[in-house]
Amino acid sequence: MGTGEVTTGDRRVDALIAREVRRRASSLQLIASETEPTPGVRAAMASVFDAKYAEGQPTSRFHGGCEVVDELEELAVARARELFGAGYANVQPLSGTAANLAVFAAFAQPGDPVLALRLDQGGHQTHGSRANFSGRWFTPLHYGLRADDELVDYDQVRELALVHRPRLLVVGATSYSRSFDYPLLRQIADEAACILLVDAAHLAGHAAAGTLPSPVPYADVVTFSTNKVFRGPRGGVILARAEYERVLRKAVHPFTQGGPSMHAVAAKAVAFAESATEDFAAYVRTTVELAQDLSAELAVRGLRVVSGGTDTHQAVVDVSPLGISGVDAQHRLSRAGIVVDKAVLPFETRPVNEGSAIRIGTPVPAALGLTTDRIPALADAMVAAMATPDHAEHDRIHREISRLTTG
Ligand SMILES: *Cc1c(COP(=O)(O)O)cnc(C)c1O
Repeated sequence: MGTGEVTTGDRRVDALIAREVRRRASSLQLIASETEPTPGVRAAMASVFDAKYAEGQPTSRFHGGCEVVDELEELAVARARELFGAGYANVQPLSGTAANLAVFAAFAQPGDPVLALRLDQGGHQTHGSRANFSGRWFTPLHYGLRADDELVDYDQVRELALVHRPRLLVVGATSYSRSFDYPLLRQIADEAACILLVDAAHLAGHAAAGTLPSPVPYADVVTFSTNKVFRGPRGGVILARAEYERVLRKAVHPFTQGGPSMHAVAAKAVAFAESATEDFAAYVRTTVELAQDLSAELAVRGLRVVSGGTDTHQAVVDVSPLGISGVDAQHRLSRAGIVVDKAVLPFETRPVNEGSAIRIGTPVPAALGLTTDRIPALADAMVAAMATPDHAEHDRIHREISRLTTG
C-alpha cells in the first residue's frame, strides 16, 4: 500500500488521505469493529453507482433511469439470501444503526418494551441507550451477564421476557466475545410471543464463514453492519423470514430512509459473493485463531480475559493487574503503534470513560496476513507498552511493531 493511493485533486484532503494511509500502515489496528476492505469492495464504492438516485424498490422506483440499478439491487438481494439462507433480504440500510431503527419501527410502537443486553456489559447503543432512539422512544429492559462466568444469563432473559412481554427480544453485542444460544433464545421468544432480533454486527462474518452457528434459522430478523468482520462496505443489511418482507420494506423506505447508497449496494453484492469463498472462510478462521492466541498469551502474562476467552475475533482484557485504567492502556498502546479501544468490564468499578479494560480485535491483522507465530512477540510488546509511561520505550516498541507487521 503506497501513500496517497487516491487522488482527489484537493491538496488538503489528499494530504490527509496520505497521512491516514501512513498511520494505518505503520501501526497495528486491533479495533474489533474494523477490517480491511477488499479491492473489489473498494472498487464498487468508487463506482458510477454513487451518482444514481433510486428511491423505492427494484421495478418500482421514484426515479427514471433505474433499469441497471434494479438489476444490481436484485443481484445483491439474491446473493444475500443465498449466502445466509434467508427468506427476505433488504440491502438498503445505510448502516447497522439504520437497520436496527427500521426493525424497531417495523415491530414496535413508541413506548413498547424492548429487551436487550445491558450496554455496560457489551450491548450496543441501539439496544436501549437513553441517548439513542431505542431507549428514548421505547421502554428499554436489560438482561446481563452472570457474575461467575461472565456469560449471558439466559435464566434472566427468560424471566424478564415472561414478566414484561417485550415486543422485541434483542440479542447480539458490540463488546462480548462469545456466541449465543440461538435455539434457547428462539424458545424464549416463542414462550413470550416476541420478535427475536439478532443484531449480528460482529457475528455475520462468522455465520457466513461457518466459524460460528448462524442465527438466521432461529431469528425472526437479523441485522448487521457489512463493514465489520464481514469485510464489505460501510452499510447495513436486514435478513428476515419471508413473511416480514412487507413490514420491513416499508420501515426502511419511506419510514426511516430516503434513497439507498447504490454504490454501497454494489459493494455489498461484491462482498456477498466474496464471503461465500474458501478464502473468506480462511480469513475469518484466522481472526478467531489470532484472537484466541492473543487472549491466551496475555493471560499467561498476568492479564484477565473476560469470560475466560473468546469464540470470535474480539476479546475484552482486564488491564487492572497492571495498575492502570483502560484509557491509560489505550493511550500507551497507541504511542507504541498498537491501536485498541478502551472498554469497561462487565462488573466495572471505575467510571465508564476510564474503564478497566481494553477491547482487542483481529480482523485487520488477519486480512493483512499476520500469522499466529507472531502473537507471543505481540503480547510481549503490548504488556511492555502498557506497563510503562516512558515515551522513549513506546518509540522503541513502535519500531518493533512496524517490523512485526511488515516483515
Ligand atoms: C457496530 C454495531 C452496530 C452499528 O453499526 P453502524 O453500522 O456503525 O451503525 C449495531 N449493533 C452492534 C451490536 C454493533 O456492534
